[in-house]
Parts: sequence; C-alpha cells; structure tokens
Amino acid sequence: ARKAALAASTGPGATSDGHKVPLLANVGGPADVPAAVEAGAEGVGLFRTEFLFLDDSTKAPTEEKQVEAYRQVLEAFPEGRVVVRVLDAGADKPLDFLTPTDEPNPALGVRGLRSLLDHPEVLRTQLTALAKAVEGLPVYLEVMAPMVADRADAKAFADACREAGLQAKFGAMVEIPSAALRARSILQEVEFLSLGTNDLAQYTFAADRQVGAVSRLQDPWQPALLDLVAMSAESAKAEGKSCGVCGEAASDPLLACVLTGLGVTSLSMGSASIPYVRATLGKYTLAQCERAAAAARAADSAEEARKAAQAVLSGE
Ligand code: PEP
Ligand code: MG
Repeated sequence: ARKAALAASTGPGATSDGHKVPLLANVGGPADVPAAVEAGAEGVGLFRTEFLFLDDSTKAPTEEKQVEAYRQVLEAFPEGRVVVRVLDAGADKPLDFLTPTDEPNPALGVRGLRSLLDHPEVLRTQLTALAKAVEGLPVYLEVMAPMVADRADAKAFADACREAGLQAKFGAMVEIPSAALRARSILQEVEFLSLGTNDLAQYTFAADRQVGAVSRLQDPWQPALLDLVAMSAESAKAEGKSCGVCGEAASDPLLACVLTGLGVTSLSMGSASIPYVRATLGKYTLAQCERAAAAARAADSAEEARKAAQAVLSGE
C-alpha cells in the first residue's frame, strides 16, 4: 500500500487544498542529477558546489572545469529552478588553500562566505563560471551564499554577483541566528532566503554538528529552531520574498508539513525523500499544517513538538 501511495505521488508539491510548495533536490554535482529527475524534483534547491573543490584541496578548480559541472546541472532542469550555493569551505569541510589551520573553533572561524570575502578571486571565478554556464539556458538560476551573518555580508555577496555580471537572483542562507533575527535587514540586499537548518541548529544550541554527544540539540524539531524558521519566513513574507528550507529538516515528511505551516515557501532535500514528503504534504490542508506548526511551537521539547504536530495532523 505504501508503494502504491508513493507511485501515485507525482507532480508538483502541494497541500491537499492546492497550496504549492515546490519540492527541490539537494545535489553535490552532475552525478546526483538523475536521481533528482527520477524523484520528480521541481529543480535544485541546494547545489553544494564544494564537492567540486574537494578533489584537489591545494587550489580551486579552473573556470572551465566549473563551467562544465554547473552547465550539466543547469541543463537538467529546463524551465526549472536551480539554486547554486557558492563554496562553503571551512569547519567540517576545510580546504588547504582557503581554510586557516590555527583556529581554536573552526566552526566559529573563517568559513563559508567569510573565506570567500577573504579570497575574492575564488568567488569571482565561481560567479563568472556560473554566468557562462547559464548562458542561453531557459533555467531560473538563483545563487546564494552560506553563513551570512548580517546585512554587510549580504551586500558584499550581492555586489560580487553584480560585478560578475551574473543574471540571476541572489540570496542568503539563514544558518546563523543573527540572520534569522535580522532577516528583514538582510532582505534589503538579497532577493530570497534559504534556511540551512543543520547549521542553524548548531549555532542556535551551541552544539557542534560533528559531536555525537550533543546530537539531542541538533534535533530540528526543537521549538527554538522552529521559532527562528517562523521569524525568517514571516520576514520574507513581509518583504514579498521567498524563504525555503534546504537543511535536513525538510526531508522529514511530518516536519515538512510543519515548516509549510510556518510559512516556508519551498523544501529542498535529498532526492530519496521527495516522494515521501510529496505524499505526506498532499494529505493535509494548509490550515492543518498551520495548526500543527502552532502546536509544535507551543511545545517545550523536540519530542513534545513532534507528538503535538502528529496529534493535530491525525485529528486526535
Ligand atoms: C545546512 O547547514 O543546513 C545546510 C543545508 O548546509 P550544509 O549542511 O551543507 O552545511
Ligand atoms: Mg550549512
């Protein structure tokens, strides 16, 4: 029965009453594209470009090599949306040519956009390669920066995109609580937000995502995390802009309904999760998702939040 339900789950993501929530894929490069297409992804919500850089940690891949990889992903989604994240190096993904080796707390150090602002030539090459890769393709390209802390970060990134002549929407990831708290200010510089709930949980709870002993605090059902998601989504709505989720949270079907109820406008996840999320979302109305979201936020722990949302959605 489960298989039949999944097979019946095709088409765009939406609640049972037709509120659209595009379901997008997280990919690491061209090799992940077939699975995304197979799962019926409506595009890519997170292209983690750092995988292109991990082959050789001593230098950046050439512009030509980058153009080739970006083009292969962009070509796979004609008329679709592809959100490319510029290089997110540092902390758990160090690169010899970019990442300082003498930091006591690499997760709090020079990583993500911070590395790129310290090495503008690396960012420039990446943006130029994207501008060349998208030329002549009907895809909607969006480019976003990881680890945006404030409006100055968002402006520096948007300026770099404009200087590279990139015809795309520019966005900021919300992975640091300061970005969620001041989302409206960040949205003065960029056109969309994308919540990276893995890092947002790490920085909200001061709990290293690589340390198993604190994994309880990495649970994306934590009501404090849901509050920051709601704050970001409400800010985007007030500015007439979009706010997606591309962290692991989006791949939990029940949580995907809650995120929708919090006002998130798209969900991006590993391709294998897309059919499950599509099937579950399609069972409930937007109003039910909103009630489940309110119940989850009223809870005092991740476990209670999950139970409260489940109770609302199963009509208990
Ligand atoms: C996140 O932090 O939630 C995210 C999507 O980025 P990554 O997992 O690649 O850090
Ligand atoms: Mg992240």
